[in-house]
Amino acid sequence: MNQIESLDRLINELSKLPAVGKKTAQRYAYFLLSMNESDVRDFADAIITAKESVHYCKICANFTDKEICDICSRPDKEPIICVVKEPKDVTALEKVRDFKGSYHVLHGVINPLENKGPNDINLRSLLDRVNNEHIQEVIVATNPDVEGEATAMYIANLLKPLGVKVTRIAQGISMGSELEYTDAVTLSKAMNSRREM
Ligand SMILES: [Zn+2]
Repeated sequence: MNQIESLDRLINELSKLPAVGKKTAQRYAYFLLSMNESDVRDFADAIITAKESVHYCKICANFTDKEICDICSRPDKEPIICVVKEPKDVTALEKVRDFKGSYHVLHGVINPLENKGPNDINLRSLLDRVNNEHIQEVIVATNPDVEGEATAMYIANLLKPLGVKVTRIAQGISMGSELEYTDAVTLSKAMNSRREM
């Protein structure tokens, strides 16, 4: 390393970011050092402020800086819940403007290889929501990969006894791909041609 303790520490912290190796971390560290001090303070402050003010919505578990997020607070929302794996999937699906329901973020999917079972994701509150919010339909929009499909099947089996309609987004999205990288038109088609499970 550089034998400069504070610089090595910065590189080490930066290399904890996804897809950032030691070389990239070093490049970022040198870039940060080349910035003027007030810009660096703004940068650091943005990280701390976001971390302190952003948390999970009490209803859907998406990121919000309020107690209940803007989507859950919509007065005209339809009694439909779209279940997704991660907050970034909500961002992708919000580009499909014809969806007027709310979301439910699982923060993961069932994955036996990683020892992730149904109790390790945000599933229990989905049952409560279906009952309490008089939900008519649950659209399962987990990614079309093995874990996403297995999780969808589990959710369908869990919810069907409650008498709610459970649907799965259509396979317009190619197998193994992620919602995040799917364009709005394809997502819209996948949502509109969903099938009952
Ligand atoms: Zn919410």
